Amino acid sequence: MSYFGEIYHGIKTLLTGMGVTGRYFLTSGKGAITQQYPDNRDTLQMFDRFRGEVVMLHDENNEHSCTGCQKCELACPNGSIEIIWDRGVDAETGKKKKFIEKHIYHYGMCTQCGLCVDACPSNAIVWAQNFENSVYDRAELTRVLNKPGSKVRAGVEE
Ligand code: SF4
Ligand code: SF4
Repeated sequence: MSYFGEIYHGIKTLLTGMGVTGRYFLTSGKGAITQQYPDNRDTLQMFDRFRGEVVMLHDENNEHSCTGCQKCELACPNGSIEIIWDRGVDAETGKKKKFIEKHIYHYGMCTQCGLCVDACPSNAIVWAQNFENSVYDRAELTRVLNKPGSKVRAGVEE
């Protein structure tokens, strides 16, 4: 590139960068880019695709859609999920059926890769948007995702 060509290229890239900065400066009133955390803790909304922690959905009847199929456990590359399961008799069909005793999630080992959520055939586990997970005791990072007394919703099959 010639001497003058390099000057032209330098000025052009400088103006391109300043244009981006100027655009954000002029439109910042329409939506703040910098979040005043933690002052805005009460109103803070994380973006939809944010991966905070894996949780299990429960409805108002304390029912979930986890069948204990273990696909999430198998999909997890670092053993962050453990399914403790057993077999019991289904009250509706009278047949033996697998059910979970504990769906254990080791948050401290989780890399937020999302493979477990993608692998779940019944959408029993999803991403929550909580990100304040600092604790003093590492044991608190191991969580049981199925709530006490909960059971699988009728009609959800493995
Ligand atoms: S997000 Fe990834 S690392 Fe975390 S529990 Fe799921 S599969 Fe394992
Ligand atoms: S969370 Fe989903 S993939 Fe994991 S055991 Fe339950 S139903 Fe199967």
